[in-house]
Amino acid sequence: MAKKQFKAESKRLLDLMINSIYTHQEIFLRELISNASDAIDKLAYLALTDQNVGMNREDFAIDIHADKKLGLLTISDNGIGMSQEELEQNLGTIAKSGSLQFRKELEKDQADVDIIGQFGVGFYSAFMVADTVTVLSKKYGEDQAWMWQSSGADGYTVSPCEKTTVGTDVILKLKPDTDDDKYSRFLEQYELQNLVKKYSDYIRYPIRMEMEKRRQKPKAEGDEEDKEPEWETYTELTTLNSMVPVWQKSKKDVTDEEYDSFYRDKFYDFEKPLAHIPISVEGAVTYKALLYIPARAPYDFYTKDYKKGLQLYSSGVMIMDRCEDLIPDHFRFVRGVVDTSDLSLNISREMLQHNRQLAIISGNLEKKIKQELLNMQKDRREDYEKFFAAFGRQLKFGAVSDYGMHKELLQDLLLFWSAKQEKLITLKEYREAMPEEQKHIYFAAGENRSRLAQLPQYQRLADKGFDVLFMTDEVDEFVPQALRTYEEKDFRNITTDDLDLSTEEEKKAAEAAAADWKDELEFIKTALAGKIVRAEVSADLGKHPVCLVPEGGMSFEMEKYFKRVSPEMAMPVEKVLQINPAHPVMQKVKELITANPDQAKQYLQILYTQGLLLADLPIENAAEYTELICGLMEDRRQDNSDEAQG
Ligand code: ADP
Repeated sequence: MAKKQFKAESKRLLDLMINSIYTHQEIFLRELISNASDAIDKLAYLALTDQNVGMNREDFAIDIHADKKLGLLTISDNGIGMSQEELEQNLGTIAKSGSLQFRKELEKDQADVDIIGQFGVGFYSAFMVADTVTVLSKKYGEDQAWMWQSSGADGYTVSPCEKTTVGTDVILKLKPDTDDDKYSRFLEQYELQNLVKKYSDYIRYPIRMEMEKRRQKPKAEGDEEDKEPEWETYTELTTLNSMVPVWQKSKKDVTDEEYDSFYRDKFYDFEKPLAHIPISVEGAVTYKALLYIPARAPYDFYTKDYKKGLQLYSSGVMIMDRCEDLIPDHFRFVRGVVDTSDLSLNISREMLQHNRQLAIISGNLEKKIKQELLNMQKDRREDYEKFFAAFGRQLKFGAVSDYGMHKELLQDLLLFWSAKQEKLITLKEYREAMPEEQKHIYFAAGENRSRLAQLPQYQRLADKGFDVLFMTDEVDEFVPQALRTYEEKDFRNITTDDLDLSTEEEKKAAEAAAADWKDELEFIKTALAGKIVRAEVSADLGKHPVCLVPEGGMSFEMEKYFKRVSPEMAMPVEKVLQINPAHPVMQKVKELITANPDQAKQYLQILYTQGLLLADLPIENAAEYTELICGLMEDRRQDNSDEAQG
């Protein structure tokens, strides 16, 4: 029979498995048992709705058989089985989650082979300990069984075979022992028992093995009273695992390490989760759940490809791998398992989606997740910042989405950069640090913090001892819009909104200045026609002569955002030139407007461009600006030389 070749990437992984001098060889058993368990999950699920399966929950099992004489180790399951095509598809290619994920990591870091131990590397791990792997499988609903066989990298064969029962046998012909590696240890019942206990204890189906045991022979008739007891050996089919999944165990019986390693095995993450949340609820709906907060975002997290959801079990049968309804979008980074016996078992997946019990569970989980995050924020700030770096954006999206419906829930989980404290703080912390006389929550949005720190408005606020939140993430600026207020204080964008700093007297003075500048403001507007819609007097500019602010509610940052995200919707934001009447340069401009209007216009061009620079907006005509400045410098030199001559 012609050998078929493995797909190229499968072959690479295979080579790695075959040649690894590898300390975690033993995990092959965990992988094969996990596959067997998944296959049983599938048939058990089918059995819920299909009478023809003819199996009950108790009938399912995984059997391990060791044949020392032949050096064979067999792992059998009575799960769903594989058809001819599936054998080719599944075992001839790596297309599956675990293996694929593993391969990605491998590419990142060729040297660190130890990561194998932390991954579901899948079926191929069998080649770490076996020369030849034979898979006999009969798929549920089919008459013909098939045999897949491979001795490693040179390919595999698939041929028809005899097998009476539905399910799969994976038969390993173990490699011969060497000085360094005793593969035969995987035939010892003691070793197998330990490995099952160590890695597969929580598997929810019995993992059974014929165990050799010893017992005392019963005393025969007429034996002497003090005769030495005699021993005999016998074999007994023994279940090796406790079958209690971690999430069913009571918190006090599970160590942090166990929680972590369960997470890594189950969700193929190589990093420890930041938190685990075991939940046990009895009430309107009774259920157990085990949730995790991952430490990093999967590479596809912020794309459409990422699917949220928790694994859903009902009475020990896995109903759904990613049940979306259990987790709200803003917490879609949470991974975990929910197990409840309260769901009616033969409901279809479609109906599940509208299930009232699911809605209750999901509501409870949302509260628990929030509480856990708040605890982390309080007690483990560094971890929380790590979490926020990975998933903060999701929370901000959440606060903004659905017309701000979730803002109450999410607002205390958000962090923003405090210009004053130079670190990330919560809104609550901002509020608590606010001086008595500060009336608003101030923020500024822009691409980088050092730029924002140069805003005249910021300097004005900083002088008064007020903090400003610097929002540098794209979605940030939408958050204050959605929240509108936090603990009764409204948000003020320091570049678009009135800072509301002036006293009554200052306001009066500003009004007087505005009246005093009435004609000049008109002049400025005309001089900068097409560039600004208006000029106005401001008392908030501190040491700066002018400043550009947007007209209407939209900020320059938002304009940039829309231009990039949906250019067809972007509307140009019109600019207002604010002037500082007290500034010497503006005094000079005022004089020139009457004395030398042409020069006044040039000054205004320069001041306008400086406004663009401060607002981090592109300069419209850099050459013109440079020329104007040069002109100014030359004039001055002339002035000086005139003086020298005179
Ligand atoms: P993974 O377990 O990560 O999906 P594997 O390489 O271990 O990757 O297995 C590939 C696929 O082969 C599985 O997804 C499954 O469809 C199939 N498979 C493996 N073992 C069994 C089994 N004992 N019974 C049925 N199908 C199996």
